[in-house]
Amino acid sequence: MRFRENLARFMAGRNGYDAFSMFLLLAAFVMLLLGRIFYRSPFFSILFNLASWVALLYCIWRVFSRNTYKRQRENAWYYAKRQAVARWFRSWKDRWQQRKEYKFFRCPSCHALLRVPRGKGKIQLTCRKCGNRFERKS
Ligand SMILES: [Zn+2]
Repeated sequence: MRFRENLARFMAGRNGYDAFSMFLLLAAFVMLLLGRIFYRSPFFSILFNLASWVALLYCIWRVFSRNTYKRQRENAWYYAKRQAVARWFRSWKDRWQQRKEYKFFRCPSCHALLRVPRGKGKIQLTCRKCGNRFERKS
């Protein structure tokens, strides 16, 4: 396979395909679809098509980039964001599953999430994070 050897030589020292590039490719595809869905609106179809091209070109540029250090840092940044989003969804899933046994409150001063058992009437809450005290009906 001549082509494979040439490709391997060409890709040596380049970033290649990583998770962030995969996300960009997916985003480009979704944007392309949105452009098709909003084809009646010139503004949105142009906007989504443009965004799709930007994401696609950025993805291709990243794959062939020789600055692997910077690309790997971008990829790490992407992983951190993705984990934050996953955590957010998991916390909402947990809250939904526990909604019958527990009630959730936000601390008015630091916005930490507090969980208390339901049906205890009016109770005094102490925030675990900042020690702020406030009253709520559970
Ligand atoms: Zn607090």
